[in-house]
Amino acid sequence: MANRDNLFKREYTNRKVNLRVLLDMDGVLCDFEGDFLEAFKKHYPEEPCIELKDRSGFWLRDQYEKLKPGLNVKCSTIYNAKGFFQNLTEIPGAVEAAKEMFQMEGQVIRMFHCYCIFIFLQPLFETYMVDVFICTSPVNYYKYCLQEKFHWIEKHLGKQWLERILLMKDKSMANGHLLIDDRPNVSGANPYPSWDQVLFTSCHNKKLETSQRRLHNWVDGTWRELIADFGFISLKRVYR
Ligand SMILES: [Mg+2]
Repeated sequence: MANRDNLFKREYTNRKVNLRVLLDMDGVLCDFEGDFLEAFKKHYPEEPCIELKDRSGFWLRDQYEKLKPGLNVKCSTIYNAKGFFQNLTEIPGAVEAAKEMFQMEGQVIRMFHCYCIFIFLQPLFETYMVDVFICTSPVNYYKYCLQEKFHWIEKHLGKQWLERILLMKDKSMANGHLLIDDRPNVSGANPYPSWDQVLFTSCHNKKLETSQRRLHNWVDGTWRELIADFGFISLKRVYR
């Protein structure tokens, strides 16, 4: 603990409930799709490919396999290659948003005061912070992926964020209030996950009609409203 940055020393022993936000990596923080396409074109220039505007469906390999049998194997050689996950491009604004989100204490509290006059009757509601975690599902070919995800987080977010990594093959088992993920309707062994998912818009889900709330990007500032809304909702749920 002694060497941890003060920003990351949070007091969890007073039962104070923070808003726990889980951020997916691929498609939310890292531009998996864009970098994959670029690498695929470079390595297999003779093969057909799927432009981002034509991507549809979460599983990239499936769409490529439909395009031409055998391409699914070539797809996996791209993202299983050494350096792929480590060198993924940041989705614009993602890192800055994650860092700001982690420090949103004051802003969320002010929003909460505006929404709920009962704050004056229930002192427990007075303060909370936003705890941000990276919740990512590595590929099964883990030779490079695991360590490269750690490397990406350290490089882009900083060493302290290594404390905030959740490697989850099944995200339904993660405990949080809000999951921001580009995979539609994330589900798993737990039929009642603690989180509500917000769908981060990506090339593969942009045409999908869904009732899920969306977050379209990190740059227009709408994520701040999202966090404020969920702060209000989650605390109501905890203390009802
Ligand atoms: Mg993803």
